[in-house]
Parts: sequence; structure tokens; C-alpha cells
Amino acid sequence: MTTEFEPQGEHDQRLLGSVRPAAWKNPEPAPAYNLVVVGAGPAGLVAAAGAAGLGAKVALIEKRMLGGDCLNFGCVPSKALVRAGRAAADVKAASAFGVNVFPGASIDFPAVMERVRSVRADIGPNDSAERFQKLGIDVFFGEPEFVGRQAVAVDGKTLRFTRAIIATGARPARLPIPGLWEAGAHTNETIFQLTTKPRRLLVIGAGPIGVELAQAFARLGVEVTLLEALHGLLPREDPDASSIVRRALENDGIRFRCCVSVAGVDRDGSLKRVRFASKHADPETADFEEILVGVGRAQEFPQEPGPEGTRGSDRAEAVLGALQGGRAAGRGSGIYKGSIRGWNRDRNETRNQSRIAIARIRASRRNRLGCRGAWKFSCCAGGSAGGFRQKGKSRACLRSCRPRRQIRGAGCARRI
Ligand SMILES: Cc1cc2nc3c(=O)[nH]c(=O)nc-3n(C[C@H](O)[C@H](O)[C@H](O)COP(=O)(O)OP(=O)(O)OC[C@H]3O[C@@H](n4cnc5c(N)ncnc54)[C@H](O)[C@@H]3O)c2cc1C
Repeated sequence: MTTEFEPQGEHDQRLLGSVRPAAWKNPEPAPAYNLVVVGAGPAGLVAAAGAAGLGAKVALIEKRMLGGDCLNFGCVPSKALVRAGRAAADVKAASAFGVNVFPGASIDFPAVMERVRSVRADIGPNDSAERFQKLGIDVFFGEPEFVGRQAVAVDGKTLRFTRAIIATGARPARLPIPGLWEAGAHTNETIFQLTTKPRRLLVIGAGPIGVELAQAFARLGVEVTLLEALHGLLPREDPDASSIVRRALENDGIRFRCCVSVAGVDRDGSLKRVRFASKHADPETADFEEILVGVGRAQEFPQEPGPEGTRGSDRAEAVLGALQGGRAAGRGSGIYKGSIRGWNRDRNETRNQSRIAIARIRASRRNRLGCRGAWKFSCCAGGSAGGFRQKGKSRACLRSCRPRRQIRGAGCARRI
């Protein structure tokens, strides 16, 4: 089983030691699980820890690296890079505050990237296989396949469950541009592995990922062109906010081009020759050392449930359709949606989806979680231990729990 992750040095080895240990042996499955969680990003980890805290017997299945996008390819490394960019921008602007930086200030790009990977490795133990094992959770690595209504197979073993949560998140959307991937374009899954500074970087997609990474790299001395096929930057955001961000990016030296798309990419030695197309201008070509694609997220979905578990011939679609509404897949199948949408805006939203799924499971009449009645559930984002607190110790939780109408979905645990 490959993780498609190419470790760069000691820090990445440390990270893998936490989130995908080479010597890990999948445990012998328990005779039955109250809950199986598929996908161990923020949503899956919260669901597993929360249910285990309630006394449930839980199995967690991950096909790549525990921590998901957030730890390995998203929030953590991107914020570490953004922080380095901010330090560089502060130094550049220091004289405006009367602070004279000694001549010769420079950016050591390989050191910046090494720090990004070291920050990620330092946080790794929080999401580690060892930690979740100590919480009493059976951690399995491998690609699962639903083989029945309440059974999933992984690594040649069959896990039987009463309830399952699918929290398989999303991966970068792949643009079908001729030559783009052959030329070695990056996504957020590979860009943090860079070890040398590209002179020129093309960022395709001016959504949140493209914008924050474009700014960070520009502040670190890379010549950045940011490209958006639609009109304007951050097209989903308020236009006034977008124009403030646009001015900030231009101050950082980013060249922003909108209503332009990439027609194709050719490799020329270490360079990527990009052909641009626009309705409003003649076709153009430009060379870049690196390309980063940040054009959105594509849904991940595990092997569809087997014939027993679903109705209809197009099983994956049927299950997915049911899950989109946050309902169990097929009446009474016990499979719940954790996070499978193509775009989860942030890790808190995705964690809350898991909390809501657990609340639904607890609230269901056929609840088999085996939870002791003394436990309460809270949907509030600030809750601890995956949002679960013991009765009698939940004052803070009850104070901060948002009114039910503000919580997406109807599964608020206030009901329990
Ligand atoms: C560059 C970038 C920066 C970001 N910055 C922030 C930020 O600053 N703040 C913030 O709140 N959010 C941020 N996000 C968003 C955040 O990363 C996501 O919202 C969050 O990771 C979603 O969590 P998840 O558990 O739903 O899915 P994921 O993190 O995608 O986890 C899903 C897990 O399921 C596994 N999986 C997939 N298919 C299977 C399968 N068939 N079997 C078993 N396992 C499977 C995957 O390997 C993965 O580990 C950022 C995202 C990116 C890309």
C-alpha cells in the first residue's frame, strides 16, 4: 500500500513514524465494532476519539496518513509557510517603523521549507497511530471495501460493525490540461516537499489555497503569477474583501491575471512552457520553474458497499446520494456521512459534521453504541475530547453550545 508521499529528510521520516509507521501491524479485528470510521482526517479522528470516549468499541481505517489533509498537506504546512512569508515581509517593511535591519538580510528557502516539514512532524504525535491506539481504538491502515451491510474488509480482514462513519474528505481536483501533470505540476499534496526555490511560479486558481500560497511564496522571493479562469480573485468571497486581498497581493509583487486559462504545458528541460488562452487577448506563452494547481477539491469515496448493503445497480451513487443529506445509506444500513463533500471550508466544519453524525447515532432508536447514559454530547466547536464531556462536568459545554438552529443538520445532541 503506497501513501504517494515522497519523504524529504529526517522530519518527514519523523512524521511518517507518527502517522504511518512502517512497522505498524494492523490488529486482529474485534468480534464486533460499535463504530467503524473510514478516513482519519480531522473529521474521522474526532469521530473515533469521541465515540471511544463514550465507551464504544471503535475501529479507524486510513488508507494514507493519519491526520488527513489538515496535518499533512493543508492547514499545518500552509500556515507554517505563511508564517515564514510574514517574517520576510516584516523584515522588508521594518525600516518604515524605524527599525533598521542589518544589510545582508536574506531568505534561506531550503531552511524555510525544512522548518515547514519540521513543524508538521512536531504536531504528528497528536494524530499518531500510537495515540489513537492508547485511546482504545483499533487503527487499521489499508484501503477498505464494504463487503456487506455491516461489514468492511481491509488488509484481508473483515470488520463487523453496527455503525460506520465515512469521513474520507477530499483531494485536489485534477485539471485535464494537456501536458500539465506530465510536466510535474504540484498540488498542495506535493508543494511542501520543495527543497529549492523556484525562480518563477505559476499558481493556477485564485481561491483560498491558491491565494494564500501565492502570497507566501511571493514574500519568500519567488516571482509569482496567479491565474484565475473566472473574473476576479476569491470568486466565492465578498467583492470588497476580494479587492482588498488583490491590492495586498499586488503589493507583494504578485502578477494577477484573470479570465485566462491554460491551454497546454510543454516541458523544456527544467522549465515548464505554459500556453495561455483568453477570450480577450491573443494566445501567449511563458516559462515557469514550477506550477501549483489549486483549483478546488474533489470528493473521495471508498469502495462502494456490497450488494447486501444497498439497493439499485449504481450502488456508489445511491449511497452517496443518501449520505449527502447526512442520512444513513439505505434505510437502517448504519452508514453515516462524516465528511465526504468535495469542499469542506475548514477543519472545524468537518469536525462538527462528525460530531453531528455521532449525535445522530446516539439519538437513533437502534443505537448500539453501547454508550453509558452518563455521557453527554456537545456540538460546540470548542468542546474537548471530540465534543464529549461527562455529565456533571459539562457546564462550560452547555454554556457555549450554540443554539440548535445555528448548527448545520438536525442532529444536535441537546436532544439526547
Ligand atoms: C492548503 C490548504 C490549507 C488549509 N488551511 C486550513 C486552515 O488554515 N484552517 C482550516 O480550518 N482548514 C484548512 N484547510 C482545510 C482542511 O484541511 C480540511 O477542511 C480538512 O482537512 C478536512 O478534513 P476531513 O477529515 O474532512 O478530510 P481530510 O483531511 O481530507 O481527511 C480524509 C482522510 O480520509 C482518507 N481516505 C480517503 N479515502 C479513503 C478510503 N477509501 N479509505 C480510507 N481512508 C480514506 C484520506 O487519506 C484522509 O486521510 C486547508 C486545506 C488546504 C488544502
